[in-house]
Amino acid sequence: MSYIQELHERASREGWALGHFNVSSAEQIRSVVQAALNVKCPVLVGTSEGERKYLGLRQAVALVRSFREETGLPIFLNADHSKSVEAAKAATDAGYDSIHIDLSHLSYEENVKGTKEVVQYVRVRNLEAHVEAEIGLLKGESKIQREVIEVRPEDMTTSAQAADFVKKTGINRLAPAVGNIHGLAENEKIIYPDLIRKIRGMIPQHVGITLHGGSGISDALITAAIKEGVNNIHINTEIRVAAADAIRSSLAEHPEETTPYKLLEPMIRAVQLKVEEKLKLFGAVNKI
Ligand SMILES: [Zn+2]
Repeated sequence: MSYIQELHERASREGWALGHFNVSSAEQIRSVVQAALNVKCPVLVGTSEGERKYLGLRQAVALVRSFREETGLPIFLNADHSKSVEAAKAATDAGYDSIHIDLSHLSYEENVKGTKEVVQYVRVRNLEAHVEAEIGLLKGESKIQREVIEVRPEDMTTSAQAADFVKKTGINRLAPAVGNIHGLAENEKIIYPDLIRKIRGMIPQHVGITLHGGSGISDALITAAIKEGVNNIHINTEIRVAAADAIRSSLAEHPEETTPYKLLEPMIRAVQLKVEEKLKLFGAVNKI
């Protein structure tokens, strides 16, 4: 069994969730590493297609690997929301530890077919790698959206569909739509723990459940989601907001400063604190 798989199964068994945090710079990887070291827990760093295009695929792999080797921390890199089979294959080739293939914008049949292709591609190249896929409509983007974003019942994943999808594709983690949206919106973010429980009951125990769009969901709902079977939670927007706020204040407070690492220090710290807060909420403290 691969190390990532072992960690997911352990989190499920013990009732906590692995934190997955999106980054787009070496500084932010440093923030996540420091937070995980402080809290003593394994962690996943994610890069969306945009984030990894900016950071560089091989560079992201090298950075995460170097921190893993230097600190001994179980830190893994996930290719978050690969929107095509090609993008997922490129991340696999670059050495990502985990691949999230997201073909939920296609028809169900095409989603199954493409996801299966990625699972097979990854399996023959990297026995350690984990594959995640999703079904259902996940609205929104990882930013502050000044509008109400409503999730309709038909947007959500049904437990029967989840069971069929997992069986047909052989994935390691499923990202269902359980009321969640990406980013922050004008309306309160709601997820349905009952639906998570139903999905959990319909898929094999070794298959994990990932919750996307974790930013802005109340602590009580996050705790309920973990109780019902979520063992991996994604946070992006709250980190972006913390980073952007810190950069703006840093520039405003030090108009004469020209040294980038001095200007960016408050951002590293702000992201680190946000990540620590979430790891504690996910019950991930003292897991290494
Ligand atoms: Zn997501």
